[in-house]
Amino acid sequence: MKTVIMAGGMGTRIAAVNALVPKPMITILGKPILEYQIECLQKQGYTDIIIVIGYKGEQIQAYFRDGADFGVRIEYIVERTPLGTAGALFLLKDRMEEEFLLINGDIIFDIDIGGFREHHKKKGGKATIFIHPNDHPFDSAIIKVDTDGRVSQWLSKEDERKWYKNRVNAGLHILSPHILDEMAELKKMDMDRDVLKQLIPQGMLYAYDSPEYVKDMGTPDRLAEVEMDILSGKVKGKNLQEKQRAIFLDRDGTINEYAGFLKHIGDFILISGVEEAIRKINKSGYLAIVVTNQPVIARGETTIEELDEIHNKMETLLGRGGAYIDALYYCPHHPDKGYEGEREEYKVKCECRKPAPGLLLRAALDYNIDLGSSWMIGDSEADIEAGKAAGCKTAKIGRDEKYTDLLSCIQQILP
Ligand SMILES: [Zn+2]
Repeated sequence: MKTVIMAGGMGTRIAAVNALVPKPMITILGKPILEYQIECLQKQGYTDIIIVIGYKGEQIQAYFRDGADFGVRIEYIVERTPLGTAGALFLLKDRMEEEFLLINGDIIFDIDIGGFREHHKKKGGKATIFIHPNDHPFDSAIIKVDTDGRVSQWLSKEDERKWYKNRVNAGLHILSPHILDEMAELKKMDMDRDVLKQLIPQGMLYAYDSPEYVKDMGTPDRLAEVEMDILSGKVKGKNLQEKQRAIFLDRDGTINEYAGFLKHIGDFILISGVEEAIRKINKSGYLAIVVTNQPVIARGETTIEELDEIHNKMETLLGRGGAYIDALYYCPHHPDKGYEGEREEYKVKCECRKPAPGLLLRAALDYNIDLGSSWMIGDSEADIEAGKAAGCKTAKIGRDEKYTDLLSCIQQILP
């Protein structure tokens, strides 16, 4: 699979850091962003690289030349006039025989490319975008995905979006060569607006949802953060080829105020300090994963759609506080039959209702988690039993417990 890196654009917001070099050549710990990208590609065997250059592109060419010093082969496409984030793809027409990876030149990432590619092939869309939660969803475009992984909506900040799942486009894409067939002429084009969004009504845009490390260099603040993340090993460590550590969190009574069987979205209220606690988890490199029993589904008190909306509210509120969860698993079941209005298909003895460890085990498979170095935190005995059954360390929170709430717990268990 070939890789195309878009390195032609000019950075504006980050000009304060260094206006003399093109954005992909801004250095972090003495090494250009582009070099980190090429290293990640090279170590996974993706050595066939095309770099699209424009603004001060000669600096990129002078540094990387034909790629031999970096263990890869590099070809350059030079934009004579700015072609936006996608226009230069026209020049690749008839040159791509199979799907290819397209990367924004201003992001630091370390992802399992094979996993991303497999997902693209399995879904069979014309394009798959890499999406992830971020710590500022309120000022990012939100990508809504249906149950099959298709992108159903692309909501800009100006769009109506009260409660939403925190998932944004990370700047990595896999495109099928058919996309190029549809380009009729060489002209300025915007990747998001003119290419990707056009695929949504056709049902041909898919999303790959991953907690791996991807961060754009939008502002000097973020640059400093990425520097720390590289030094601490967080960037490499979050690649899903590496064993992950997770902090599993119960929902009711741990994240939100306990309200019995919570059925109404209005009753979902975050416990104070939870944003700070989860922000701390996010910074630590542990995955934040919610595991919750929701028998309200089996009892017929809430529909799946209503439950999803409650979780959207949770993600939106956390996002406002700069916090995010990487994944959420819930058990919709309930074992006791014979109530009015219940949904029989969910009235089963299952492996996922805590204290059974099924939700944690499923997450461990999905995200390559080492359960022995992970934590389960909750306010009930069922949470603790589930955590122990999965082989995790456990922490119970509550008024009479060692940890009174999630924040005090996180402050003590994370260094
Ligand atoms: Zn279950």
